[in-house]
Amino acid sequence: MHIVHSISDLRAVLGPLGRPAFVPTMGNLHDGHIALMRRAVQLGEVPVASIFVNRLQFLPHEDFDSYPRTWDADCERLAAAGCQVLFAPRERDLYPEPQTFKILPDSQLADLLEGEFRPGFFTGVCTVVMKLFSAVFAGKTSGIAVFGQKDYQQLMVVRRMVQQFTLPIDIVANPTERAPDGLALSSRNGYLSASERAEAVALSRALRTLGEAAKAAGDALPAQREALEQAARAQLNARGWQTDYLSVRRRSDLLAPKPGDALVVLGAARLGPTRLIDNLEI
Ligand code: AMP
Repeated sequence: MHIVHSISDLRAVLGPLGRPAFVPTMGNLHDGHIALMRRAVQLGEVPVASIFVNRLQFLPHEDFDSYPRTWDADCERLAAAGCQVLFAPRERDLYPEPQTFKILPDSQLADLLEGEFRPGFFTGVCTVVMKLFSAVFAGKTSGIAVFGQKDYQQLMVVRRMVQQFTLPIDIVANPTERAPDGLALSSRNGYLSASERAEAVALSRALRTLGEAAKAAGDALPAQREALEQAARAQLNARGWQTDYLSVRRRSDLLAPKPGDALVVLGAARLGPTRLIDNLEI
């Protein structure tokens, strides 16, 4: 596996190689990330990963400084999964000067759910993804990027960005990897104490229960949705969580569902200081 830090070294390594199949990450890799990497390898292109903790997508009070960094283990796991090139820019490689040009995503999609509770988050995500894409895919006529469904709204925002800027990049979605008890794998799970870890599965259970209630409501869902969501939030909060949202949306645009729409349930909640997100297509 080639490990490169600067954009010029990345371009030198990728130049003679074929189409990249690219997996952007913030490191502290777990089986969810590795599943994305394996998917990239299966695609038969040049498997490329990046590790970069992107300051731009963290709010001032969030965990940028304490975000877990596990460089040696990450390198080992990526190499074992078949990664051919690892791009690990330093801050000065991606942001040599303050990033004053930014990608402003469609507010209809990016200002709700995660965007409501983490204002500016998707601007930070889109801006860094655009910079990573321009570093990795420079000089290529096309490529592939693999994202996890764990970050459902992020995946939709990135897809729309790629579509609106007509980037020649196919976005491939990989399903959410879970622990045996159902907890979605996340770098932030490492923040949980033993008792919090045991409780953490309640988030995916709450999504499942809300999803079942939404399905049972059938055509009455639009009328009942808010009450169902409120009950789900109250139940999770009663267990000691602070719920940002638990919501049934339509898959196409994450707006309120109408009868017949394909549905997804999305949630974000804090357990102690740790904020977890998850979702379930139903
Ligand atoms: P992150 O390092 O958290 O920025 O995530 C990098 C990529 O891994 C994103 O595309 C995430 O959606 C994806 N990812 C994170 N956790 C999981 C998971 N449990 N299952 C599948 N993909 C995941």
